[in-house]
Amino acid sequence: MNEVARTLQHVTAQLPGGGEARDGQVAMAEAVAKAITERRHLVVAAGTGTGKSLAYLVPAVLSGSKVVIATATKALQDQLATKDLPFLAEHLGAAFEFSVMKGRSNYLCRQRALEVAGGGEQLSLDAVDEAALGQLGRQVTRLLRWAVDSDTGDRSELDFEPSPQAWSQVSVNAMECPGATRCPSGDVCFAERARARAEQADVVVVNTHLYGTHLASGGHVLPDHDVVIFDEAHELEDVAAASLGLELGAARFRALARNARDVVTDDPALLADLESAGDRLESALGPWRGKRLPAGFGEELADALALAAERTARVTAAIRQGDGEDPKRNRAMQAAGHLGGDLAFVAAMPSEFVAWVEGPPHAPVFRMAPVEVGALLADKLWGEVSAILTSATIPPLLPARLGMLPESVDEIDVGSPFPYEENGLLYCAAHLPDPRGAGYEAALHAELEALIRAARGRTLALFTSWKAMQAAAEALDPKLPWRVLTQSDLPKPALIKAFTDDESSCLFATMGFWQGVDVPGESLSLVTIDKIPFPRPDEPLLQARRDRAGPAAFRLIDLPRAATLLAQGTGRLIRSGTDRGVVAILDARLAKANYRWDLVRALPPMKRTRHIADVEAFLAVAAPVSAVQAPGA
Ligand code: SF4
Repeated sequence: MNEVARTLQHVTAQLPGGGEARDGQVAMAEAVAKAITERRHLVVAAGTGTGKSLAYLVPAVLSGSKVVIATATKALQDQLATKDLPFLAEHLGAAFEFSVMKGRSNYLCRQRALEVAGGGEQLSLDAVDEAALGQLGRQVTRLLRWAVDSDTGDRSELDFEPSPQAWSQVSVNAMECPGATRCPSGDVCFAERARARAEQADVVVVNTHLYGTHLASGGHVLPDHDVVIFDEAHELEDVAAASLGLELGAARFRALARNARDVVTDDPALLADLESAGDRLESALGPWRGKRLPAGFGEELADALALAAERTARVTAAIRQGDGEDPKRNRAMQAAGHLGGDLAFVAAMPSEFVAWVEGPPHAPVFRMAPVEVGALLADKLWGEVSAILTSATIPPLLPARLGMLPESVDEIDVGSPFPYEENGLLYCAAHLPDPRGAGYEAALHAELEALIRAARGRTLALFTSWKAMQAAAEALDPKLPWRVLTQSDLPKPALIKAFTDDESSCLFATMGFWQGVDVPGESLSLVTIDKIPFPRPDEPLLQARRDRAGPAAFRLIDLPRAATLLAQGTGRLIRSGTDRGVVAILDARLAKANYRWDLVRALPPMKRTRHIADVEAFLAVAAPVSAVQAPGA
């Protein structure tokens, strides 16, 4: 047994309840160690229950390399920072340090806090008359008091949730902060301290978006590192596209005007003009909401962008006038520089980018992103570090889509230790009408009712649209003797708790619940999925990708996304070695379409059936009727 496997066994034995590292976990750890040593890339599919975080953390720490771990969700970031890494630090038997680094706007800005508190060298809050303050003033005062004693200034450590307005009074984003060397509070800055801790640490945990910002900045955000591990790597393509692109709306013009107000004092009309240019841009964006923009953008929008660029340039020139190092001027200059740079980028509109408009009707925003991220990642990332990409569901063709050279990357699938073949049944309702045709909805509701009755409640019903979820809940709630919860009832954590605690209840939910729902045990014995989750045909970035892919678009763009999401939804069922249950796909295309095997192959290896009688028999064994009584039964 090599050192990595031995250490993994040692660490696993210390887990609550003890235990042994499983074969897949050891295989993954060894593959990660080899990739780091040989400075190669590794893509590893690690099914539910593998214990993938320890499988990459142990070899990463033992390698002695500087490692950044990027996660797509906050839940996983918290799990690494508060559970996995502290556990490893205690039991690994080798000293190492880790830290979490977040985007600048997550930390209280000492300089803004000082200015809000009335300037001076020290925060002086003793004389504040709280009764005279409104809600905003009280929250800001509370934030300032908290900052005096906080070690980190990290917003997530607050014991209350400030309003966005209150937090924005005492924070800056990366586009406003001029950096420690040009800020009088630079030497006590919380964000800078977090970065300094990250410099010292062996393992740094970040979110994937911050990693994308690091790449977009030319490598200036995070400390230098040898290895990056992308967990939840199925999100990487989308997050990279978002962070390598840009967003422009009226809010940025208002923010610049606000930043410049104390600096450009002799010509207030200049700032009013800037804000009105932002408003005009917003009006010109309105008609394009949800649509991809054509080359040249259309006369009205192009004019609005040109006006915005011209007024931003005038404000920039006005900010630049005046001497001396003034923190407010530096921040305004920073924000103006970013806005001007983005407007110039929009005007140039490189052909590899696509532009569209999104956001609510009252605040549409201009978005731009690279159509394909592969070339940019090849240029900025793959040649610089050894990268480990892992997820329970690796989308088909992922390395190619991300621009990884085939000869630089190894791919493995370590499976799952859970006995899917014995404990899981995949049912496809092949007799239902096509989901795009007439009669589908009524047939879907009848099928759902029969399935939920077979499971005696205990169902997570996943839908591809809010409308379909509501229609099903309205049709079935009066008919079923079990509680039917829907996504509109409670916030997600409370909803999952209610569903878990009330064992016979059903939860009807949409996209936000296809991932991240982890309910082991009998409460979740049936997962139903209404349709194969193909992406919307009118989603602008995907439209642009389809245009590039030509006739292969369905196979290259739509099918991999549907397969990944279907596997994510299916993955909600078996969450422990003893879980047992059924996944029912209520879309006959999974049984009939010529692409069906691309989807089925992406799912965990469950037994398959087209007969509801098999489902009833399977669920009857899964939990005897006597064990789960319906209310009033
Ligand atoms: S460097 Fe200054 S402006 Fe930037 S976050 Fe730190 S304290 Fe705020």
